[in-house]
Amino acid sequence: TYALALAGVVRRYSEGESALEILRGVDLAISQGQSVALVAPSGSGKSTLLHIAGLLEHSDEGEVFIAGRPTARLADAERTRIRRQHIGFIYQFHHLLGEFSALENVAMPQMIRGLSHKEANARAKDLLTYLGLAARLTHRPSELSGGEQQRVAIARALANAPRLLLADEPTGNLDPKTSDHVFGALTELVQATGVAALIATHNLELAGRMDRRVTLRDGKLVELA
Ligand code: ADP
Ligand code: ADP
Repeated sequence: TYALALAGVVRRYSEGESALEILRGVDLAISQGQSVALVAPSGSGKSTLLHIAGLLEHSDEGEVFIAGRPTARLADAERTRIRRQHIGFIYQFHHLLGEFSALENVAMPQMIRGLSHKEANARAKDLLTYLGLAARLTHRPSELSGGEQQRVAIARALANAPRLLLADEPTGNLDPKTSDHVFGALTELVQATGVAALIATHNLELAGRMDRRVTLRDGKLVELA
């Protein structure tokens, strides 16, 4: 089964009297361990697609399968449960909690899922160490550089060992060199953990390092070379 599969996904927004069809039948399947770059211009529907794939937004038509399970008709509580269990998110801006340390930020989603303090901290420490942040565990986000903050966000997204990682311009806020490092760490972790990844990026060089590249053209998904 695919970590993520989209079948005939349609999304419209009403614009006064008329409807704006942003997604017009998107099909996409991503296997476990596969990384896919979504490279498309602003306004083409990337964020909408990521929100639908992440069960944060409903499609108007079509189906979203997470780890083989259809989700479109599920109640919101069940969609939230699947999201928490199977999906990790990374945004352009890290959204870390400012009053908590790096370690706490990564441990928290696991404690919410019911892991003990000890187990959650151990996994958080492993992930942060893997990402080169062993000396930053007790630092708060404001005490970290932009690249370090984003690496903490990556660790947090992977803390619950999700099947699927969704990222919206994860390095868009960083300078080219830092962006390169953070992206390298991200792709290494994707390989090491076997998570499936769908990453929206404007950076063609970074996209070139991923397994597949796709774009949105007239509301449809098109595979690139
Ligand atoms: P991208 O991430 O590629 O920039 P988005 O998915 O954010 O694109 O948006 C695609 C289009 O859909 C844009 O024209 C945007 O204005 C429109 N759009 C996005 N969200 C909404 C919304 N909630 N209501 C109305 N229009 C929206
Ligand atoms: P929490 O466990 O904090 O209540 P949720 O289960 O609601 O989080 O959401 C899981 C992930 O989705 C979190 O990373 C959260 O930041 C993100 N998220 C929730 N709602 C939205 C939204 N409307 N737009 C973008 N991301 C969201």
